[in-house]
Amino acid sequence: MKLLSLISSCLFLFLTLISIPLNSAQCIDQPDPTQPSKKLASKCSMVKKQPMKNLHHKVQNDTNMFIIQLNCTIQDPIRCEKVKSSFEEAGRIISSTLILNTPILINAMFHSMESPNILGAAGPFRSIPMKDDDGFERLYPQSLVKQFQLDVHPEFAPVDIVADFNSLVPFWFEGDPPITSIQTGFLELILHELMHGLGFASAWNDYINGDVAVAATPEIIGLTTETTLPDSSAKFVFNGFQERALDKYLFLLPENKSTSSYASELNKFAEFGTTYENVSVFLNQFITSPQYLVAKEIFGYFIIPKDLVFKPSASDKEEDMTFLETSLNPFQPGSSISHVDSLTYTNTSEFLMTFSQEKGRTLNDNIRIGGNYSGGAIGYKLRLLLESLGYATNENPNPYKSFPIEEYALSSSTVVSISYMEILEL
Ligand SMILES: [Zn+2]
Repeated sequence: MKLLSLISSCLFLFLTLISIPLNSAQCIDQPDPTQPSKKLASKCSMVKKQPMKNLHHKVQNDTNMFIIQLNCTIQDPIRCEKVKSSFEEAGRIISSTLILNTPILINAMFHSMESPNILGAAGPFRSIPMKDDDGFERLYPQSLVKQFQLDVHPEFAPVDIVADFNSLVPFWFEGDPPITSIQTGFLELILHELMHGLGFASAWNDYINGDVAVAATPEIIGLTTETTLPDSSAKFVFNGFQERALDKYLFLLPENKSTSSYASELNKFAEFGTTYENVSVFLNQFITSPQYLVAKEIFGYFIIPKDLVFKPSASDKEEDMTFLETSLNPFQPGSSISHVDSLTYTNTSEFLMTFSQEKGRTLNDNIRIGGNYSGGAIGYKLRLLLESLGYATNENPNPYKSFPIEEYALSSSTVVSISYMEILEL
């Protein structure tokens, strides 16, 4: 039985503008993981690498490269301590698979949310545009850009990953009495969410239509001449559709077309810098353009099982590809695409990134059911995926790196996009 699903909202209601001076990157900050559509376009000037000795945060110990700042607001110090221990254990598990050279700072909240159906959410605080070796610019999570150890990079935010979990949910913690059928394993949930924070996230989604998705684009990047959006009177300057790091490796079957080739087609909609009277005019022109047919065409793949695969950079073998979640119809923003195919990978060693988490099972139960994979919770395909993004491992100690974009000429900007929130399925 599926117990978790992901929702997110993708409205134009939270366009937020900020002035971006010349020679700054247009980074995107998402401070609240439970409000994924709330985005801040923030300037991130190019800065020189900080020497490691000057890092403000020291690694907690040799085996956990994650630093947890937990704000636990419930009146139950024992449960708060279990939450903290779970984050630390998740950090140790990931640190035992990935070779992280720079600590990753998590700002976590554990508190009662309005609805008991929301489990929690996490995501990158800052996404940074980077240039890939295929010429595309894509958004990279700050956690990963830090690992690249670039001499000059867009300025980092003080936090890498934000996480927010709901104390109203009957979570099961490691060391508790045997899990019951109504409990959800907290450690598995954290691991899953941290994977989203580390970059398991596609930019492809329907940002245009309301409740019923019918077309898909990457993130819509726009600029405005004023700071009054979305009240309409401000001019909207189109600045392209932008994928995320994961999307570099996504292919559509059976034709084997890259999603990036669709992004290229979509970007023929208009020259970057084209000005529209307001965002509504932009949207209306887009949905009557030939490129909107491209957006509808690629969307068709996202609702047919096994039509979308992640091809790891290190292998062309068919068995090393991962089917992403395209079995959900209607399309479920937040569940579709940015997870592995649940029909294929539930009850296998790749269970961690299915969109649903079964109640009444601990992380160790799922590892055992999946065949006791030697890598534990992080399956072989998931490791290949993380290596492709650019995370080092023992098996692949010198992974791919993207590079910062040094030429920026933006005056101000607004960004529309989405991230992930887990809820209980009713
Ligand atoms: Zn998820």
